[in-house]
Amino acid sequence: MVLPIVAYGDPVLRKKAKDISADYPKLKELIDNMWETMYGAYGVGLAAPQVGLPVRIFMVDTSPFAEDEELSEEEKKELARLKKTFINARILEEKGDEWAFNEGCLSIPDIREDVFRKPEITIEYYDEDFNKHTEEYKGLAARVIQHEYDHIEGILFTDKLSSLKKRLIKGKLANISKGKIEVEYRMKFPELKKGR
Ligand SMILES: [Zn+2]
Repeated sequence: MVLPIVAYGDPVLRKKAKDISADYPKLKELIDNMWETMYGAYGVGLAAPQVGLPVRIFMVDTSPFAEDEELSEEEKKELARLKKTFINARILEEKGDEWAFNEGCLSIPDIREDVFRKPEITIEYYDEDFNKHTEEYKGLAARVIQHEYDHIEGILFTDKLSSLKKRLIKGKLANISKGKIEVEYRMKFPELKKGR
């Protein structure tokens, strides 16, 4: 089932999400629904707060990036392979010189901005069967994970912009939370007035 994606301005996007236990109710169903929701919106990642749940679950599928001609064969392979659910994740380390990439977010439609992040991460997480993993990612794969990880920490990519950029997009962000935007997928807007 496709779930509505919570739009910018909803307080759930600002909560530090909580760990879940293996007996979290209907976990498998939630994960299936989140995949369906993510693919339905042509996203490469989705975090539970984006469907209204302040819990530490997110998923990424970077395979759409694997076609990019400019990437090395090694990087293409890594991107084609990365399709995972991350539960109770903790980024243990981020390193390297920050690099910029134009990011977007399903909760913030129509806004794309360059965001600086470190290129290499080490992350610890549980998969959907609650097996623990510690893995390293770099480049675009790390980038998508960092973006989704921020969601479970209550952080949005727009928080990372310069104060000038923040001022420039302020009106657009206000419109998004009021639902004054065209989107191709189901969304839930925090300040949408009834009867509009
Ligand atoms: Zn996002």
